[in-house]
Amino acid sequence: MSGRKEMRAIRVANYGGPEVLQVDPKVPVPVPSDTQVLVEVKAAGVNPVDTYIRSGSFGTTGPLPYTPGADAAGIVSKVGAKVTKFKPGDKVYVIRNVSGGYAEFTVAEESNVGKLPSHLSFSQGAGLGIPCYSASRAFIKAKGKVKPGNTVLVHGASGAVGLACVQIGKAKGLTVLGTAGTKEGMDLVLKHGAAKAFNHKEQGYIDKVLEATNGTGPDIIIEMLANVNLDTDMKIINKGGIIVVVGSRGNVEIAPRLLMFKESIVTGFALWNAPPEEIVEMHQVISEGLTKGWLVPSVQKEYKLEEAPLAHEEIINNTGTTGNRILIM
Ligand code: NAP
Repeated sequence: MSGRKEMRAIRVANYGGPEVLQVDPKVPVPVPSDTQVLVEVKAAGVNPVDTYIRSGSFGTTGPLPYTPGADAAGIVSKVGAKVTKFKPGDKVYVIRNVSGGYAEFTVAEESNVGKLPSHLSFSQGAGLGIPCYSASRAFIKAKGKVKPGNTVLVHGASGAVGLACVQIGKAKGLTVLGTAGTKEGMDLVLKHGAAKAFNHKEQGYIDKVLEATNGTGPDIIIEMLANVNLDTDMKIINKGGIIVVVGSRGNVEIAPRLLMFKESIVTGFALWNAPPEEIVEMHQVISEGLTKGWLVPSVQKEYKLEEAPLAHEEIINNTGTTGNRILIM
């Protein structure tokens, strides 16, 4: 137990650009309730959704000021009276918290805390929450087609969610095809278990995807940039296939007639809408991946807490993604 009363944390006083992410050195250390765990944060995950909320353009915004960040990893500092699974000193990861992750301490409900396996670093642990749970939910949405022997195209596989999709898809016995925008990204996608990788910046790469499926097209497409790719996805999906939209940053024109020809399904999700039975299923997949060792986040870059504005700029504007962006306390 640290006994500290104050901590450094990012505070957002007004919605706006990355510059509104300010370090406050005197934020009170949160106090856990009976069912909560206080974690001394060593690493906090940065996710695209953090930037949407910070900008004020997103639907789900709470009272100001606030500390951003859902995902973290660190050491248990204190537990509430009803907490049974954790004790001070345990190394843990946090998939959702109540006080904000971009801080030296965070509190989370016991049900949103997991033991960090010894083969993962704190930075990797901070990459488990939103990315891995979203990847897991994408396969729940594609359930009808998740069968060994079927093919999934992870369209945008080099990012935090995409790499988790590659690993989960492989573990489920699917043949995984993945795209990235650089050779480095493609190599990483292959290293994480994809059978083939393609460059989504290269002209004609879609023909190569079709060739890799003997012309039939993938049975599942998990889409990270639907505003660019949805129309193409609807053209190349196998008959009766499922397209799961995970990410989109704008509008797109599509030909609805393709749905008739392909008898395909286009679906999507927002992680926070997951019903309780899907949360149980997601926990099971993540915990199996951690126990068996096949789920390993890849950290692209670590930033200091005061570099949170840079992390927000880079996660939205950079190309050549190779995994998670993490703040180190
Ligand atoms: P990330 O780590 O920044 O990865 C972005 C991915 O998109 C990279 O693989 C990038 O590849 C790829 N990409 C860039 N241009 C592309 C193109 N033309 N076609 C296909 N892919 C392309 O982000 P993330 O955390 O994985 O999240 C991915 C998206 O899902 C974001 O938009 C995020 O907001 C969204 N998301 C949604 C949910 C939900 O609940 N629905 C949950 C989590 C995330 P290169 O950089 O190699 O080009």
